[in-house]
Amino acid sequence: MKVTELIDEAMSQRKEHLNLSNSNLMEFPNMLFQLDNLTTLDLSNNHISNIPDAISRLINLTQLDLSNNQISTLPPTLSNLVHLERLYLNNNSISELPISLTNLYNLTSLNLSNNQICALPKDIKNLENLAALFLKNNPIQQLSKIVSSFKKLIHLDLRGTKITQIPMAIAEHFSYDFSLAEHVLGNGLFVSDVPLKLPPIEIINNGIVALKDYYFSIKKEKKVLNEVKILIVGEGAAGKTSLLNLFQGKPFDRAEKQTQGINIAHNDIETDDGIVKTHYWDFGGQEIMHATHQFFLSKRSLYILVIDKRREEKSEYWLKLIESFGGDSPIIVVLNKMDENPSFNVNKTQLSEKYKNIKGFFHVSCKTQSGIEDLKIKVAELLGQTPLFGTVWATKWFKIKALLEAEIKPFIPYEEYKNICKNLELNDDSTQQTLIRFLNDLGSIIHFNDPMLEHTHVLKPRWITEAVYRIINSDILAINKGLLHREDLKEILKKKYIDDFDYPLDKHDYIINLMKKFEICYPCGSNDVLLPSLLDVETPKFEFNKRDSINFIVEYDFLPKSTFLRFMVQMNNNIETQWRTGFILNDKRSGSKALITVDSEQKKIYFTVNGKNRKDYFAFLLFTLRQINKSFEKLKSYELIPMPDNPLITIGYEDLLFQLEEGQNFCFPPNARKKYPIKELLGIVTYVDEPLETIINLLNEIDDNIVRDDPDSLYEGIDRTIMLKPNICGIGIDFNAVLKIIGKKDFKKKLQAIAKTFATKK
Ligand code: GDP
Ligand code: MG
Repeated sequence: MKVTELIDEAMSQRKEHLNLSNSNLMEFPNMLFQLDNLTTLDLSNNHISNIPDAISRLINLTQLDLSNNQISTLPPTLSNLVHLERLYLNNNSISELPISLTNLYNLTSLNLSNNQICALPKDIKNLENLAALFLKNNPIQQLSKIVSSFKKLIHLDLRGTKITQIPMAIAEHFSYDFSLAEHVLGNGLFVSDVPLKLPPIEIINNGIVALKDYYFSIKKEKKVLNEVKILIVGEGAAGKTSLLNLFQGKPFDRAEKQTQGINIAHNDIETDDGIVKTHYWDFGGQEIMHATHQFFLSKRSLYILVIDKRREEKSEYWLKLIESFGGDSPIIVVLNKMDENPSFNVNKTQLSEKYKNIKGFFHVSCKTQSGIEDLKIKVAELLGQTPLFGTVWATKWFKIKALLEAEIKPFIPYEEYKNICKNLELNDDSTQQTLIRFLNDLGSIIHFNDPMLEHTHVLKPRWITEAVYRIINSDILAINKGLLHREDLKEILKKKYIDDFDYPLDKHDYIINLMKKFEICYPCGSNDVLLPSLLDVETPKFEFNKRDSINFIVEYDFLPKSTFLRFMVQMNNNIETQWRTGFILNDKRSGSKALITVDSEQKKIYFTVNGKNRKDYFAFLLFTLRQINKSFEKLKSYELIPMPDNPLITIGYEDLLFQLEEGQNFCFPPNARKKYPIKELLGIVTYVDEPLETIINLLNEIDDNIVRDDPDSLYEGIDRTIMLKPNICGIGIDFNAVLKIIGKKDFKKKLQAIAKTFATKK
């Protein structure tokens, strides 16, 4: 029906409800004003930009939906609609609300989301029946105190606003736990993506107890946090320390010595927001120690990336690192040594698009000091924008921070931290956790939110860098080519000089777990770890029979270094020879050998497998790599088969399967001048179905030592293990994994179960 017809009908039948949504209306239909009977009117999803004064005639309206239009102002006469209970104005272009809104004292729900509202009218306190107020995605900065007089408010949506403070009186309306989750139906206080300083967003996330505790504690005494951690990162000799010196008012030193470990400096900077205490972290050390920088890259800080022409290609490595660890911290990119290379530049547009947190690029010379003043101004400006700055803390939080900073021990156990908190009457667990995260991001302590690491709070960063340094540089590891036996740590971490740190035995695990977390080492067997950075770079001389071998390539769009390394350590038991970019496996049981190499430039991993049972062994290897690939989110890989007579020409494995299923017998790989028989190509790598007896026989050879009694995990394992495809192209069964899962107990039964599952899968 047309709009006019709908209105006519409503008029003649004296209807109370009228829905004109999605009617392509460009204007508010004047005919509507005669419908003074209406109680609900839906005009949503139209193109209305103007609401006439005469709207006041629709005096009986209880619900008015004007959402998704182009309204920019509202008429003052809106105030006559005193029966309105629900008013939807979301998704318009409203920047100011009429004061008359105040008269709508029957309103229970007011939706103003997605507009340009900067402030609520001062006098809206009459809206005392308001239960739900939606302000999502408005540039509003302050909640007027009046909102707290809405005694019935149970739903306050502030997502995406610029609000920094939620007064206690407002928060008190919400007597249940809050959640950042965007549940549509539930009521609550919604604050994701809000630059809250009071209360800090974490406190709201911690729930009502933490919130009450927080308000209670700041009631007594509070202080605004005026500190920021600034991390100066970049390649060695880019000029990080020189820049820090200038920030501190020290002169440029032509012979600046290489920074050892981490240099932490403090400075007060005057900004528009007052004096800010800055804590600079200047990272030094050899390249091999770069990995340890990651331990200290915190969220809610300010990053300065210093680059120079010499190693400009490394810029993205650092930006990626900051992105992974720095959260939403702002980043400034400094192009240094302009005196030497005045034309040095980077693709700013591209980098800014890729790394959204970059707030500016500065061309400077630490030597001539050109550009340094502008950089300082930008730094001062950004300090106020770091999320931690300006948060309101209870005074006791500051006391805890001071106690920890004054501690001379290099680390304390979690319990000790709790005791410090308890002594100052900070008892709530979640608030203690929140404070730890704040302290970590400020650099006062180093704490990792990881079950393997959270029991220790490190107070001196050097305590961990020193340990990693000693491990990496130890003779024992050099001899063992990067393989570290746990017992060797006793010797490596032994105190040799009076000034050396202590590494008690029970902290060895902490050090190893930390190195594992940041992939400086990888578990290898049950008790050892491998530090791949200590493997030989050079490919050793070896012999490998490539005749009649299976050849296969896995190509990636982006290949994280750890993919290949994890693959290498997982295969550790069978490794005969290894170097940084390759390894040779010798699986005595199947009589197969495999040569696996990586080309990081080409982003490819190459397989060559030979021997009697090469198909089984290859299936197992590919399965293992696929599992590793799966553990990386977003990682895309393509499986390719090289042509037997020309390995440079490849064709997609999945493509081949598809072509075969479509009935093709031959394929023309791209760039090939001849056709290849598909089955033959696939036969090279596919696992031809074994008769059931073969599988049962194989299972019968199960090692008696492997005992697992959990039938659930057995089934789950079988499910995971048997990856059959409906034709000959299936990849087969990963026997090794099956063998691991099966226990001794009820062996026969389990076998039958496997046989059954196997048969149904087929
Ligand atoms: P860091 O390893 O990143 O801390 O780099 P440094 O601050 O130690 O600087 C490395 C070397 O580069 C030192 O010899 C500095 O004197 C020199 N250097 C730093 N900034 C500049 C600059 O702007 N111009 C020139 N010509 N040399 C610089
Ligand atoms: Mg330095």
